[in-house]
Amino acid sequence: MAFTSSSLQSWKQRYPELTDILNLIPTLWLNPKVKELDSISTMPVTKQDIYDAADLFERFAPFLEAAFPALQQTNGIIESPLKPINNMKAALHRYYNTEINGNLYLKCDNELPVVGSIKARGGFYEVLHYAETLAIEHGLLQKGDSYEAFTSEEFKQFFQNYSIGVGSTGNLGLSIGIMSAELGFNVTVYMSKDAKQWKKDLLRKNGAQVEEFSGDFNEAVSIGREKTTTHANGYFVDDESSKHLFLGYSVAALRLQKQIEAANIPVDKNHPLYVYLPCGVGGSPGGITFGLKQVFGDHVHCFFVEPTHSPAVLIGLLTGEKDNVSVQDFGIDNITEADGLAVGRASQFATSISEHLISGIYTIKDNDLFQLLSMLVDAEEIFLEPSATAGLLGPKSVLQSSYQNTHHIDSGNITHIAWATGGSLVPDRERQELYKKGKEILQSN
Ligand SMILES: *Cc1c(COP(=O)(O)O)cnc(C)c1O
Repeated sequence: MAFTSSSLQSWKQRYPELTDILNLIPTLWLNPKVKELDSISTMPVTKQDIYDAADLFERFAPFLEAAFPALQQTNGIIESPLKPINNMKAALHRYYNTEINGNLYLKCDNELPVVGSIKARGGFYEVLHYAETLAIEHGLLQKGDSYEAFTSEEFKQFFQNYSIGVGSTGNLGLSIGIMSAELGFNVTVYMSKDAKQWKKDLLRKNGAQVEEFSGDFNEAVSIGREKTTTHANGYFVDDESSKHLFLGYSVAALRLQKQIEAANIPVDKNHPLYVYLPCGVGGSPGGITFGLKQVFGDHVHCFFVEPTHSPAVLIGLLTGEKDNVSVQDFGIDNITEADGLAVGRASQFATSISEHLISGIYTIKDNDLFQLLSMLVDAEEIFLEPSATAGLLGPKSVLQSSYQNTHHIDSGNITHIAWATGGSLVPDRERQELYKKGKEILQSN
């Protein structure tokens, strides 16, 4: 329920940054609660949990390779490349007047096989984890067995007795739906009003059930949770509080560490790494930040980015209320073309961990998302969905702030990574429309 105007006034007095945020003005908020890793005493997850999650992906590799033709080349390992984007760096300089002295890379999760988005990490992990737990509990499998057994009729028959549900704006639904259906589960995806038609069509084609709602993401989640848990064997993938999703995302850090080493990119006190992560509920950017902090310690600086119309994690962390408040409480409409980020309320689990790990959050206008989308196509021939382009404005937002001074950072030594979170499954027709829209905005400037 929306706050009254007098209580909004007192919120703004306590947190002056709220004035711009509520006026939908792009903002960079620097997190006053960020701590050095060593000084954070307890977290609900550990570094060992990341290794365990990575091991689970390894155990399932033979199944994934057999089940998905797209994974044959990589022997069942799901990973994306890290690419230098120097032409885009030059284009950012021209259009946004941002000189990036350091290196700029794109982490291409838009290319993650099978579902074309970052949700292949968290979403696949949670479904596989559940499938493994059930198979072991019921004596179908032991950990040393070949997991190719998950392709067998026997396993599929068994999983038909179980249902999985999930609420989604699109991409999480795709990853849970496709993996669950492949294993034989009964799966229902509760889609919010933002969900794109092609995502629903693709899910149905892959054997998932889709229920559509006129409400937003958080409403789709509550209805989905309620309906799924009425089934005796119902399991709900809860994006508002899932530890499994979080750990699935965190594995990306171990993989990125290897890629950074292979590319001879130094990361140390004099060579900081800045990572810009598009943020919805905060699960994927939170899990990746947690992982990166375990790997690179305080030499990595993580920034989240949210649409000006959906600053759920920003409002949650700025006020300290986390998931107790929504953007709608503050009179913000949560309407954005960035369907992956169209979230009004933060994940409780992820946000409580991010609270002390992230360096800050900036917000971005939808017009910039489209503009960046077209710029990246022109500069690098890489197509991203609108949500996924948000990280590209990170260097501009952060380099123009006091952050470097406060942390004694020489901006010429920074390696910037924009995390591209999705896009390779977007159909051609939609791609052309999005590209055209960005071009029109660029030309009208
Ligand atoms: C889901 C998603 C995000 C954000 O992940 P959260 O876990 O919701 O914070 C970013 N980009 C894309 C394309 C997504 O699908």
